[in-house]
Amino acid sequence: MIVLDGKKTAQEIKEEIKLKVTAMKGRGERVPHLAAVLVGNDGASLTYVGSKVRSCEQIGFESTLIRLEEDITEEALMQEIHKLNNDDTLDGFIVQLPLPKHINEERVLLAIDPKKDVDGFHPANFGRMALDLDAFIPATPFGIMQLLERYKVPTSGKHCVVVGRSHIVGRPISILMSQKGPAGDATVTVAHSRTQNLAELTRQADIVVMALGIPEYLTANMVKEGATIIDVGITRVTDDSHPKGYVIKGDVAFDEVAKKASFITPVPGGVGPMTIAMLLQNTLLAREWRD
Ligand code: NDP
Repeated sequence: MIVLDGKKTAQEIKEEIKLKVTAMKGRGERVPHLAAVLVGNDGASLTYVGSKVRSCEQIGFESTLIRLEEDITEEALMQEIHKLNNDDTLDGFIVQLPLPKHINEERVLLAIDPKKDVDGFHPANFGRMALDLDAFIPATPFGIMQLLERYKVPTSGKHCVVVGRSHIVGRPISILMSQKGPAGDATVTVAHSRTQNLAELTRQADIVVMALGIPEYLTANMVKEGATIIDVGITRVTDDSHPKGYVIKGDVAFDEVAKKASFITPVPGGVGPMTIAMLLQNTLLAREWRD
């Protein structure tokens, strides 16, 4: 059994990007610049944005954090987005989700210039991705593809069951793994909350991608011997014995499933760290595509 080490792989990707940034600087070129918009004070969002900004600094990108009040109006936020779209010093920006309830998330995401949409959430990027064109691929599925490719996990002709059909994880990874090319060429089944006899499906799978957000849902009796298991889930579970008062759990009962798996991602330290690395990769691409 091989653990797909997302922390190590993400670090390698960051080092590769850092080398490119150093070369850019050496040539006197402008380095990539990422901005992050954070509305309100949600604890988890603050943590995520904080680590994105820190990662930018580590690899030599310029970064800007734009913090806006929780009660900002939708129109004021839209104006901020237009400003960022027109800011020539910026290569890409992200709007940290979730947004406060009074703001229409879809309207905000649609307002982002697809050329700066390094999260890859805009329909223009999603459509381009689905049509095999150059696009910003959403960071989490992009990270999964990189892990599969770099660890040379066999995917061609394999049966992959993706559990979850969200726009940011399940749907895009199902498209990517069925496309031609590295980490692709799989036969993909997409499962969701209406799927019947899920365990029957996952037991047939060579690869299972769990992206539903229910802690330790996938148990050993639901997988076949030698399967590859990708765990996207991140759920905070209350645990008073832990200093933080919670632990992070994935969608896979890791200890028991690992015994049957050929490759498996841990949580934490699997898909999570890859997500930030691929956001940085998208920002580098945004910078390169502007030339
Ligand atoms: P969503 O809540 O948007 O989607 C969950 C999906 O799981 C839905 O398609 C839902 O089906 C399906 N589902 C729910 N219950 C079941 C069930 N019992 N059986 C089968 N399918 C079910 O979640 P996300 O895709 O945004 O996130 C999934 C998990 O991944 C979360 O834990 C999230 O925190 C984590 N995540 C991790 C990231 C990382 O960087 N590692 C990045 C993004 C997310 P239906 O469509 O029918 O409702």
